[in-house]
Amino acid sequence: MSHSLTPVALCRSPYKQKFAIPRQPNLVPAAIGRLELQGECNRAECLKGLEQFSHLWVLFSFHENLAQGWKPTVRPPRLGGNARIGVFASRATFRPNGLGMSVVKLHRIGQEGKQHFIEIAGLDLLDGTPIYDIKPYIPYSDALPDAEGGYAQEAPTPMPMRVLPQASEAMAAAEQAHPGFQRLAEQVLAQDPRPAYQRSADREYGVQLHDRDLRWVVTDGCNCVTDVVPL
Ligand code: SAM
Repeated sequence: MSHSLTPVALCRSPYKQKFAIPRQPNLVPAAIGRLELQGECNRAECLKGLEQFSHLWVLFSFHENLAQGWKPTVRPPRLGGNARIGVFASRATFRPNGLGMSVVKLHRIGQEGKQHFIEIAGLDLLDGTPIYDIKPYIPYSDALPDAEGGYAQEAPTPMPMRVLPQASEAMAAAEQAHPGFQRLAEQVLAQDPRPAYQRSADREYGVQLHDRDLRWVVTDGCNCVTDVVPL
């Protein structure tokens, strides 16, 4: 049986490109976004009672990757990008139905004009991601402390960040425009988003967060911010 889905919300996120989004939610608690309710779901009644929960499940589409299809096996970055495992043994974005799921923190529920929204923290979603369902996280059933994590047992070891003197003014300006920007940058870079095959000490990397191009180099295992360019 096939079944067509209509988004219930649209995600507004500081992540404007796929590069450097963490691999899972809650690795970057400083990432704050919004789920803007859409169509018939854009009403306060749909959210009644949700404020009692601290966390939510968000079910969404990996919409940027849908056109590229899927394969029965994938090579998770965790395994160095070489070993193959089954798509259903992975959280890969290239999947038969292109669906993702993330547990995020519920910050607040609000309304601006006619737009109802849920502010969330710790998301791993690209700006513009269509959301197909939102459900409360229920700790007695969803939290399983004895569960086995297979090849993804531990969160990656975080890398430190330093803002080089040449970037300190630009970082302060970004912080003023987007309070929490520096913490966001630090937590995003802590995940070492550089592609495994392109890690060289003299290379400058860049990623868009909000409306800034965050630029950095890696020196002696430390992320050194070289600039924060307004876009
Ligand atoms: N927590 C989710 C899950 O397990 O289904 C997502 C895990 S997936 C490995 C996380 C990656 O999805 C991010 O690093 C980002 O690059 C990618 N991503 C996030 N939103 C996306 C979107 N709308 N389209 C395509 N890729 C997306």
